[in-house]
Amino acid sequence: MGSIVPEVVNFAARNTKEVGDVLGIGASKRVEWAKGLLEGGPVNGTIFYAGEMYPVMGYSEGAFRILRRVEGLMEINHLAKIGPIMRKLGIYTVGMNSLWGGINKRYEKALQDAVKVLKGLGVEIGFLFEDEPPSGVALHTYGLLREFKEHANWVRERFKELGVKRIVTLDPIVATAFRLYYPEFVDGWDIECYHFVEVVAERIAELGLKFDLGRKIRVTYHDPCYLSRTLGVVDEVRFILSRIDGVELVEPERRGIFTGCSGDGGLELTQPPVARKVSLDRVMELKRTGASLVLTSCPACILMLRTGFDSIGHRIEVEDLASLIAEAMARGSERVESELKNFKRYKVFPKSPHFDSLSLEDLSKVLKMETDRCKKCGFCNVECPTSKAMNRLESRSSRGRVTLINSLVGGDPVRPKEVLDRLYTCVLCGRCSQECPAGLHVQELIVYGRAYAIYSGTVP
Ligand code: SF4
Ligand code: SF4
Repeated sequence: MGSIVPEVVNFAARNTKEVGDVLGIGASKRVEWAKGLLEGGPVNGTIFYAGEMYPVMGYSEGAFRILRRVEGLMEINHLAKIGPIMRKLGIYTVGMNSLWGGINKRYEKALQDAVKVLKGLGVEIGFLFEDEPPSGVALHTYGLLREFKEHANWVRERFKELGVKRIVTLDPIVATAFRLYYPEFVDGWDIECYHFVEVVAERIAELGLKFDLGRKIRVTYHDPCYLSRTLGVVDEVRFILSRIDGVELVEPERRGIFTGCSGDGGLELTQPPVARKVSLDRVMELKRTGASLVLTSCPACILMLRTGFDSIGHRIEVEDLASLIAEAMARGSERVESELKNFKRYKVFPKSPHFDSLSLEDLSKVLKMETDRCKKCGFCNVECPTSKAMNRLESRSSRGRVTLINSLVGGDPVRPKEVLDRLYTCVLCGRCSQECPAGLHVQELIVYGRAYAIYSGTVP
């Protein structure tokens, strides 16, 4: 029997390990955006970290746009099979670039804008260029935790050799990896990591700056799950926008730590129809704000929202907050009162379960103990975006996933397809954990449940 894990997951995991980004575009192309803009190597121990998504996200957007148009005729697994053949022929990167290089420029521009903003605010940063190691966060997402652990320890050594002490990144998913996952998987991890908006908000407050966009615009902001709910960064964004004259912020119904998922979480690769339904729900909500520009702070959210708006034929720009700040800063600034602000760091999730090791024995012991605590109340199901997208099917709900993990580690017979259809249809948004009266860290249990399914051979 062949593997039921979609070819594209293996493709993404292999590329991350071997080439450094999910699509396998390669380091030289990935760092082109930074040439002439940043110094090589850390500056006072600090680097700007682009990560493995932002520099290549436009290629994914291009591929997803085509796949949506030819739905039913071709799917992403076919593209994942063609990729390695094209690479062997030496035409992969050139082909990808000629097809979707134009779309990718918009993501590269966001990185350039972020660097201009940071430098304009006097933040000293360098860049590792082709030496930048990938965070490997996709390995974590898909439950390949042993591989993630090995990779993360290698990254730690690379950073040590290169003298990295502090990381500033525009990508909240890699910020989550460095801030939450690495300390768990790498002994003695001591590298600080900040998201761009944290650094920018602090500097604007400290320097007492105000900007003028030079035009009036109504914007809405989509809080990425990883930035708001997971890292607890919410107020900084509102503060930054309040310092730009000409900008009127209209908030969507779900915002801040209660934000709605844009449909990513790796789902566009494993379960595209579900990802699209989740994304549709969110774009309709953002459309209702009447804003003429959607801002956010995550490459995966930008992709899902752009393609989501495209699918409903609503013409609207979706861009990284960094680009709006860069536009305003380019017109100069005015000094107002400087202040030292202590932005609130929201603590949303319960304590993570502790796993002594990634042995099957430890995984099953902790997963059993945790999932046995579930009271079956179903409070977690109410706001679960994928449960809603799949007609409230119990088996595809948060509670259904917890129940499946309990059966899996309890030795009940579980079919591989059930694991794929239930555990791999979760976007890891964490909305469920906010509602759980038993204090279960549901999305983390799902990641460890995926790992158990892989290493126990349940998923071939
Ligand atoms: S199970 Fe939880 S983390 Fe997964 S999609 Fe539902 S609410 Fe989000
Ligand atoms: S909210 Fe918590 S206790 Fe209730 S069903 Fe969901 S996981 Fe179980």
